[in-house]
Amino acid sequence: MGLTVLVNAGPWLPVPPMGYGGIENVLATLVPELRLLGVRVVLASVGTSTLPVEERISLYPDGQFSALQRPYNQVCGIGQAHMQAVVRAVRERDDIDLIHDHVEAIGLATVNALGADAPPALHTLHWDLGKHPDLYGHFDGGDRVRVNGVSAAQLARAPEALRAHAVGHVHLATPLAVGAAHRPRAEKGDHLVILGRITPGKGQDLGAQLAHRVGFDLVLAGPVGPYHRPEELAAATGDPLAQQNPDVRFWQEKVAPHVDGVRVRWIGTVSGQPRDDLVATARAALFPLRWEEPGGTAIVESLALGTPVVSLARGCVPELIEHGRTGLFTADEELLADLVVAADTLDPADCCQEAATRFTPSVMAERYLELYEQVRQPSGSVALPTSARFVPAGDGNPVVDVTRTTMSFVDSPG
Ligand code: UDP
Repeated sequence: MGLTVLVNAGPWLPVPPMGYGGIENVLATLVPELRLLGVRVVLASVGTSTLPVEERISLYPDGQFSALQRPYNQVCGIGQAHMQAVVRAVRERDDIDLIHDHVEAIGLATVNALGADAPPALHTLHWDLGKHPDLYGHFDGGDRVRVNGVSAAQLARAPEALRAHAVGHVHLATPLAVGAAHRPRAEKGDHLVILGRITPGKGQDLGAQLAHRVGFDLVLAGPVGPYHRPEELAAATGDPLAQQNPDVRFWQEKVAPHVDGVRVRWIGTVSGQPRDDLVATARAALFPLRWEEPGGTAIVESLALGTPVVSLARGCVPELIEHGRTGLFTADEELLADLVVAADTLDPADCCQEAATRFTPSVMAERYLELYEQVRQPSGSVALPTSARFVPAGDGNPVVDVTRTTMSFVDSPG
């Protein structure tokens, strides 16, 4: 009989999400593949989740994401209440072989607090590990609670106490990678695209300035805070809650002044076929990153859609992109313009081939199954993979500068 895994997706959005939802999308990609591999999945999520699984646990009928804009005292109980329901389920039954948790901070803390008699747990770190220094810097999950990252570069930034519990990293995957090598190629247009939340770490301000300076059309796709459509954001102007949102302020102060609707356009969040068409017809997908991108779903999606990546060499980029074949990256903002121009020399077929080989859901699920086995090994016998052992912490991030010998870092905004 296969494993029974409690997959904790958290209370914020349904799985799959209706629109934007990074972690929920990863789970919608992972869980069906795990089930094909014989894993029984108990999904802890919200009532509107429609992902087929063996069983569900949900306290909230619908996703609580919009509550995240509220003051702390109205938000902080939501994660706890969800985790309380998870704890109850784990305590009431004896068939859970492993907990696979994806809930930031409170997930790790609660799963750890379950104590020695609880099932082993793997907590996936989806975010920048410069966050939560008090929790991560003092973390002790004993032999029962392990963590994994979504890239080696991300884990390299983790405090030592957290890294001591790491069983390695699993790169993100996309369903678009399945059959990518054999899909007909889209005809390329003239535009570049930045696909992602409009937030300082993703560097849309830099991309927009570059578009005007170099003279290329740029489409920005993604939400600004909770606002998915330009009309929604416009309607929220003057709302004090909106003004408190750092992404709204970033948009207003740094990005909007460069968005003229011609050279640079913001189209809000796109999904489904329109999103895939937008990316597939782009000359390149631009990632002018200002933070150490931890996992980069939009990067692997771009490859799967046959669109080379042009990026600043931060976080996971050098692990996902082969410089000169599937994309171009540099540590130097000043050189980004040259790379945009050179992107036309890259072959979309190479991007698709790379995605079909490395970033399919089945590759990701098989890797997680390996980690599940490692986590379930008896105490003390977990073999840390090389990537979790050798990488330096902090700003000694092992990214390779392909153009210069020095790199500059700015603080992560995450
Ligand atoms: N996304 C989307 N529509 C948009 C902008 C982004 O569907 O308009 C999706 C994108 O395709 C990717 C996810 O949002 O699947 C972003 O994940 P990523 O890991 O790139 O960034 P994160 O937001 O998690 O930092």
